[in-house]
Amino acid sequence: MPTIYIGIGSNIGSREANCIKAVEILREKGIIIKKASSMYETEPWGLKDQPKFINMAIETETELSPEWLLVVTQEAEREMGRQSIAKWGPRVIDLDILFYGDMIVEMERLKIPHPLLCERDFVILPLSEISPDKVHPVSKKSISQIAAIKKPTSAFSTQKGMKMSLRARRAWQSR
Ligand code: AMP
Repeated sequence: MPTIYIGIGSNIGSREANCIKAVEILREKGIIIKKASSMYETEPWGLKDQPKFINMAIETETELSPEWLLVVTQEAEREMGRQSIAKWGPRVIDLDILFYGDMIVEMERLKIPHPLLCERDFVILPLSEISPDKVHPVSKKSISQIAAIKKPTSAFSTQKGMKMSLRARRAWQSR
């Protein structure tokens, strides 16, 4: 089974709890959770005038094709009450497929690796925690190389999220 990385973000309501709930929903839908990063509080990207985000990343496995995985992640977003919203606007949950093995997907509604992955601290930081050696199939650079080149633009405070995430991680990974 391919190793797949999914980015998770929330900036509405109980942000940490929303991220944890999203992982639970994915697990209930049959996605195998292998690793989960800490949570990071990040400045909003794109549209600045909105609350800060909590972001994390998970390493998963599934037999689902990339297209079906997108259907499942979008279903999970809807189940959590996500509405159609402004591009880069506030959201109760956001699930992005970052990598699907080394596959490159260039469809109108699905692009993998996620196109803005290398530019976003909120993706690179959690990914470099759980998978620093993962090589980007297009740039051929590892996540830790990308993190080293990139200038950090966001402020992070991980304390609170880290504790919740550790508890949840133990539960997911022992199943
Ligand atoms: P966003 O508002 O960032 O959640 O973007 C959602 C849109 O991005 C959806 O219409 C998806 O079809 C599209 N999309 C393209 N590539 C991806 C990807 N790798 N993961 C998740 N959504 C994607």
